[in-house]
Amino acid sequence: MAILYKIMASIFFIKDADRLFAFSLEEAAQLSASEIAVLWIYDRKSESLVIKKQIGIKEDTESGYNVKEPASLLWKSYSENIVKNILVNSDSDKSSVPFSKDYEIGSCLIIPFKIEQENNGAFFFARASKMPYDITDERMLTILVRECCACYENLLVRDNLRKIDQAKTEFISLAAHQLRAPITAIRLNIEGLSSKDVGKLNNDQLGYINQINESGLHMLDLVNALLDVSRFDLGVFKIDLRPVNVSDFAESVLDEFKLSIVEKKLIVKKLYDKSLPIFQADEKSLRIILQNLLSNAIKYTPAKGKINFEIGRVSKGGSFGGEKIEQDSLTILVKDFGAGIPLGQHDKIFSRLFRADNAVKSDIEGTGLGLYLVKKVVDETGGSIWFESVENKGSTFYVIFPISGMKNIKSIN
Ligand code: ADP
Repeated sequence: MAILYKIMASIFFIKDADRLFAFSLEEAAQLSASEIAVLWIYDRKSESLVIKKQIGIKEDTESGYNVKEPASLLWKSYSENIVKNILVNSDSDKSSVPFSKDYEIGSCLIIPFKIEQENNGAFFFARASKMPYDITDERMLTILVRECCACYENLLVRDNLRKIDQAKTEFISLAAHQLRAPITAIRLNIEGLSSKDVGKLNNDQLGYINQINESGLHMLDLVNALLDVSRFDLGVFKIDLRPVNVSDFAESVLDEFKLSIVEKKLIVKKLYDKSLPIFQADEKSLRIILQNLLSNAIKYTPAKGKINFEIGRVSKGGSFGGEKIEQDSLTILVKDFGAGIPLGQHDKIFSRLFRADNAVKSDIEGTGLGLYLVKKVVDETGGSIWFESVENKGSTFYVIFPISGMKNIKSIN
């Protein structure tokens, strides 16, 4: 029994149906000293039981032993969901036992294979000798077959969920894509309205227009984030590595936030290591990382607050953000002295659609997608990201990449 439990524990971790069947058959055959072990599965197209996996019989035996006759032992076990335990004594026994014309079979055991309450096929075990399968054999093999069925059901569920998830992601991607055009049109029309060419607006009207504009911007952020996330989840996010001067690139990203920095009267302390070598990077990924970290620091810092933005390097064995660094690395640091993240929510910060309580309670708009995407991008391009944060004191986000550049982890794997 101890061996049986060990086998069951191993079966649980198999993620592929073919391997699951092969492993279960092999282990069951060994456990019960069976020379032959075969799994038949019902095939709707041919309306017959078709061999799916086999041990102890020649590969080309397969189609000759696909079973259609309702009178056969195998069919009965499958359709009536009963275990058949047979000692092959007479010629008539022989004629009802599969393979007995071509192989020496003294005893056999047939156990139905049931998936999601439906009869799906049968396992067949046979010994050349006339040693019958006793109660212990029958119990052990039945338990093993049941475990195999349960694991197969799990695989089917997981597969279905994956398909549903994929369909949902495709739908989100399409919807986000389609939403971009009307949002852009609204924003263009608002720009037109605010220009002096169409007549002067009074202050109230300008106030409304500004609010519509801000909501339009937020909608565009959300739609772009959804589009990026769905591209990632669908595996169609392309990583295109090129030489990049990271300091210049970082400065250009920071420049995109000039307006909000001035509006909030923030002080941004920049520190770029000018000795950094040219870095192999996917610009889109680098932009996603810097944009999200900077926009969060700006969003979650009150007016007149301070932000540090540093691009540097650290040598192997050095330390950065409280961690010992294992190889020469490019470092990105974004530190703010703003809202911070409540301690109990640190572990959820990179989850999809997560916003911390203090962010939700504030008026600060957000999607809960930015850091999820940043983490994915960093992981996929061979970097690491972590943070430190104290509520009401501020947060520091740390990112590192090997100094040689980003990597396309998916293509490496
Ligand atoms: P959001 O669009 O809501 O900012 P993110 O995915 O970028 O979404 O961040 C997830 C959550 O992490 C935010 O809602 C906020 O609660 C918290 N957060 C991220 N960055 C900071 C920061 N610099 N300061 C305080 N909280 C932050």
